[in-house]
Amino acid sequence: MTAATAPSASPVSATPPTPHCEPCAGIQQNWRRAPGHAELVQGSNRKELRDSGTVTITRYRCDRCGTSWEYENNKADQHAGWSVVGG
Ligand SMILES: [Zn+2]
Repeated sequence: MTAATAPSASPVSATPPTPHCEPCAGIQQNWRRAPGHAELVQGSNRKELRDSGTVTITRYRCDRCGTSWEYENNKADQHAGWSVVGG
């Protein structure tokens, strides 16, 4: 009989839980031209207006962990790139 009521003597990890899978966690966010990973499935894209002009934002979804990503292609902003979107 293997009950799941183990005493809470397991070592407590100092690592916070990551919401993404390993490849997602490896994506450098908010950095222009940072690569994505092979399991991202491209979705729709849209235009958005920035101070510098119109940029294209492409939506991706991770096939492994389901995280939704957006990639902003903005030549004028070195800190535009990958970001996680809710939902
Ligand atoms: Zn993922």
